[in-house]
Amino acid sequence: MDTAERVLAYGGGWLDRAGPLRTDPARMSALLSESTTVVLPMWRDRCLVDGDGPVRLTAERASLVRSAAAETVFLGLDGDVAVFAADLSGLSERAAAEMAGATRSVDVRALVGRLQPGDAAVQAYGRGLLHWHRQQRYCGTCGAAAVAGGGGHLRTCTGGECGRILFPRIEPAIIVLIEAPGPPGRCLLARHAGAPEDAYSTLAGFVEVGESLEDAVRREMAEEAGVTVTDVTYQGSQAWPFPAGLMVGFRATATSEEVRVDGEELLEARWFTRAELRDRMASGRSLGRVDAIDHELLSTWLAAGD
Ligand SMILES: [Zn+2]
Repeated sequence: MDTAERVLAYGGGWLDRAGPLRTDPARMSALLSESTTVVLPMWRDRCLVDGDGPVRLTAERASLVRSAAAETVFLGLDGDVAVFAADLSGLSERAAAEMAGATRSVDVRALVGRLQPGDAAVQAYGRGLLHWHRQQRYCGTCGAAAVAGGGGHLRTCTGGECGRILFPRIEPAIIVLIEAPGPPGRCLLARHAGAPEDAYSTLAGFVEVGESLEDAVRREMAEEAGVTVTDVTYQGSQAWPFPAGLMVGFRATATSEEVRVDGEELLEARWFTRAELRDRMASGRSLGRVDAIDHELLSTWLAAGD
């Protein structure tokens, strides 16, 4: 199975996003008043948790939280059950936790190994959407206030003639496993500025305006590592709403083994054989974050050869 077919952390389409319901205010308010409807309270990019993980509120407690929330957004349907996320960022952490019947707040990335994949994905989704609302309170064109609509999936400028509709922003980044041009099979990993002395990872960068994903791969690899690449091949993507990313994974082949790092983002880059990577793993060093696509790119590459 290649990376594109696997479900990576924070994705997987666990909820029916039920897009058509978002534009039906009567349905939205009916769903909010149903006793089974679940509200996930969040506080400044963090889940509110009790001993069992992120709390899921229904009925009176859900209604109380919604009345105090800066925004309540519709995430989708879990079977017949509507799921919303509510932003308690305006309160202190303690007040938010008390109101939600939680004990504290935790970033979903710190919980991901302990949560069911669907719960991690839904929490990350709520986190990203509520983060956007906090960052997009005003219209960037005329400066008037913007108000949430569409079940929380857009905001509309209230500035008279302007009336611009604002949609959640997603910032795509490419992440690339570069293979050596000839045998033996090797991949290029780099030590990033600020990373520990012996931490090597795949190369990545943001997509710029006016670029295709493949253009971004070729430019970033040339800028950061002085490597010209060909055979840029899509491997899979990962939702990364921390706060607004979409990670798009590629494999590419270098035309030369020569490497020249920029010394700013990358301090060093070198070629690793599969045997070297396995040795590193055997000595307790991990292949990237286990919840991230770079781990998946490396694992898939390792599994494809000796
Ligand atoms: Zn405006």
